[in-house]
Amino acid sequence: MTDSRSDCLFCKIVTGEVPAEVVREGERTVAFRDINPQAPTHVLIIPREHYRDVVSAGAAEVGILDEIAREAGEIARAEGVAESGYRLVFNTGPAAGQTVFHLHGHLLGGRGLEWPPG
Ligand code: AMP
Ligand code: ZN
Repeated sequence: MTDSRSDCLFCKIVTGEVPAEVVREGERTVAFRDINPQAPTHVLIIPREHYRDVVSAGAAEVGILDEIAREAGEIARAEGVAESGYRLVFNTGPAAGQTVFHLHGHLLGGRGLEWPPG
């Protein structure tokens, strides 16, 4: 499904029904600050269209993941973390901690990030 879902929190952020601190908008993407930041920079990058996760979006072959990666690069530069490094994470499925089933890339930076992650 690629349509907007009436019960989806991030679809509601796309339409403006739910407020968010938007940092960047693209034709097909919206990026906003995570409400519960885990790093000095914690931005969520989402497609305007609804895909449940990164694999579903990849299977649709619409190039949206390339676009999210490009947006991540621009946001990292704007946030001043491009040089120091940052993490782009797509939690996929409940065991990985995915709680919102509308594809979102977490861009995390501004502090040292441990590996392996918790
Ligand atoms: P995940 O656990 O990977 O599905 O990530 C969902 C993220 O969305 C979490 O980091 C939440 O803190 C974040 N989140 C939930 N509701 C909102 C909201 N209304 N505005 C911004 N971020 C949110
Ligand atoms: Zn959605």
